[in-house]
Amino acid sequence: MSEPIRPWSCPFCPLLCDGFGVSHAQPDGALTLVDSDCPRARAALARFGAASASPRAAGRACTLDEAVDSAARQLAASRQPLFGGLGTDVAGARALYGLACATGAISDPAQGRGLTMGLRALQDRGVFNTTLAEVKTRADLVVFFGGAPAPRLPEFARRVGLAPDDERIVVIAESGDPFTAAARLAALVEGRAVDGAPAELQALAARLLAARYAVLVYEPGRLPAQGELIVEALQRVVATLNRKTRAASLALGGGDGAATVNQVFAWLSGLPLRSRAGPHGLEHEPLRFDAQRLLDDGGVDLLLWIASFGTEAAPPATALPTIVLGHPATATDRAGVFIPVATPGIGSAGHLFRTDGVVMIPLHAVRPEPLPTVAEVLQRLLAALQALKTEQAA
Ligand code: SF4
Repeated sequence: MSEPIRPWSCPFCPLLCDGFGVSHAQPDGALTLVDSDCPRARAALARFGAASASPRAAGRACTLDEAVDSAARQLAASRQPLFGGLGTDVAGARALYGLACATGAISDPAQGRGLTMGLRALQDRGVFNTTLAEVKTRADLVVFFGGAPAPRLPEFARRVGLAPDDERIVVIAESGDPFTAAARLAALVEGRAVDGAPAELQALAARLLAARYAVLVYEPGRLPAQGELIVEALQRVVATLNRKTRAASLALGGGDGAATVNQVFAWLSGLPLRSRAGPHGLEHEPLRFDAQRLLDDGGVDLLLWIASFGTEAAPPATALPTIVLGHPATATDRAGVFIPVATPGIGSAGHLFRTDGVVMIPLHAVRPEPLPTVAEVLQRLLAALQALKTEQAA
């Protein structure tokens, strides 16, 4: 039995835990987690078997060259492509930006709704964010707004040094009206009288005012429509507290590459996702460039979907031509062209931004991988597209 590989950086949720190990001693080639029982990581690792998928185009297996050629021809024929999913790392995002500029594509990640809520609050009022390390070393009160994050980020409490029954934790449950709860909390912390405010909320406001360093934790992807109003109210709480004590928020999200691709597009173009580099220059439309809305309204004529971390972020059902760069276990029935790609942190090295946005984690391959990376496929796709355009212009 071979020794586990450790430390290993887990790419399967935005916490990017880097203290566990991974073992590939299973007879079927599946990988197993070591030193943690995180169900999310275990399920993701179990999807990596020994068998490797092959590219497909027009319903049949083909070579990578044939798949790239077919995808390039579809992209060349598209008047308005949509790049969705965006499950890739820094190198993949850099290559994707080049292809987006060459095609005028609109880019929106699988978790675009939650990402946009946080961005709109940031653009409108600004935000106070903190890091996992700050929560662990300084927070004396941690408020989970909208429920505890454990079901989606199983190692969160351990990462920030909180026991399950830690007295520093206060949970504002998912049930109830989160808009009212956030607005009432903001008003109470500002010292205003709030008719009908529940006793628990009043007690929480008192604890927030008494804390030395309070942190409000929330998951933008789980907020309802117009959730940016909730984020703004939470930021009001934080801003009020910072007049006399210290407080911050911690948004948990941006997994599956969403936060990473957003950072890369922002540093390359100055704009976040839900943007387009097209004939009218750079455009950012946080509502109009919602991928599902574009698909529903017929605003795009081709979907390029990227999901290299797993099979959960499946491409949406659409009759449009669809190119998928995906995890080898992806169901291919929705793709006109399917190209299996390596997963950063499993079959290739890479880099991802952690949920707190300021820490970039290096990922290391844990086994040899015959599959290309997303960046390699996109670079080949761009070269094939440029060759086609040259051919057509001659
Ligand atoms: S909490 Fe997230 S990053 Fe940590 S081991 Fe589980 S899936 Fe991986």
